[in-house]
Amino acid sequence: MSEQQTCVRCVLDSTVPGVRFDENGVCSYCHMHDRLAKTYELSESNKRKFSQLLEKIKDTGKGKKYDCIVGISGGRDSTYCLYKAKELGLRPLAVSVNNGWHASVAQENVRKVVEALDVDLKVITTDWQELRPMYTAFLKASVPSVCGPCFVGTISYLYKTAVEEGIKYIILGASFQTEGIVPLRWNYIDGKYFENIVKKFADIDTGDYNKTTISNLLNYALIKKIKVIQLPLYIEYNNERIAEVNKEKFNWVDGGGHHFDCMYKPMALHVRNRKFGVDPRKVSYSALVRSKEMTRESALRQLEEEPIGGDWDGIDYCLKQLGMTREDLEETMSSECKDFVDYPTYYSMLKMFKAPVKMLCKMRLIPETVYEKYFKT
Ligand SMILES: [Zn+2]
Repeated sequence: MSEQQTCVRCVLDSTVPGVRFDENGVCSYCHMHDRLAKTYELSESNKRKFSQLLEKIKDTGKGKKYDCIVGISGGRDSTYCLYKAKELGLRPLAVSVNNGWHASVAQENVRKVVEALDVDLKVITTDWQELRPMYTAFLKASVPSVCGPCFVGTISYLYKTAVEEGIKYIILGASFQTEGIVPLRWNYIDGKYFENIVKKFADIDTGDYNKTTISNLLNYALIKKIKVIQLPLYIEYNNERIAEVNKEKFNWVDGGGHHFDCMYKPMALHVRNRKFGVDPRKVSYSALVRSKEMTRESALRQLEEEPIGGDWDGIDYCLKQLGMTREDLEETMSSECKDFVDYPTYYSMLKMFKAPVKMLCKMRLIPETVYEKYFKT
């Protein structure tokens, strides 16, 4: 077996799924980052395209109460995006989805920012009794995508709200700059995969909760013509400065660490790291190193010295919510690791649609990042 290799530019190493190194020791994710950075560089022509997009959003929303939805969790990026959307002259409806794990500090942030910006807020709280078996199903399925139910629910509710309100644009604060490029195997999710796992391990139909089947998504994109925009791709984005702006303008509270808005994080970290070797910090630190907001040396040192988290208070809270004991968790941890390829998904079908997906990206109907993530990792 060859020795572990670490990228000379970021901190991704050969344990990360899909990583490849060129002859100079630079990893494939760095190259992917460069391609995306080139596509979305803040050139004059891209700035022009963005102002045309803004005009289009405003035009499409004429005569309606709102011209876009901004998904907001109260975390750093979504808070800033709502502020930016308003500053750019848009008329957003803020939508906050609580899939049972929304931390109170984040809920409070949401309240503060919508009040300060005078934006209407729609809070969607899902039925926990319906949701709980979906989370336990993903643990039983023994796959790294333990946050699948939240992702599917959030996307589904944003689309449903867009249809109900007749809104054509959904704005998100997630992008390759804010999240890094997460390996497909670490968080793969699609509507079919979700449905199958929940059916197999919880014996329930996902019903109306899941609006991410191919037919739903095609309907949203091509018939209803709803577009998803990752706002950070179009504006200057410096993570530290953004946190400062949030604090200054909205008295926003940093709950500590990325995704502090989610109370499932300790459990997700524990299972994904101890069972599957997933270290999400490698991805987020690499993103910061590439954007020169962190030095490679300090990222490597922090990975080496700091514990990954997943504190037991937080884990016990999650277990209680899920109706599980520590023994149940032990059983989950010791079961054989599976992967999305072990279950029915849309993945093989998606692979056949590589060219049309590329085209949809070129038309900016879906973000370029989708193509990079699904076909290049
Ligand atoms: Zn790299």
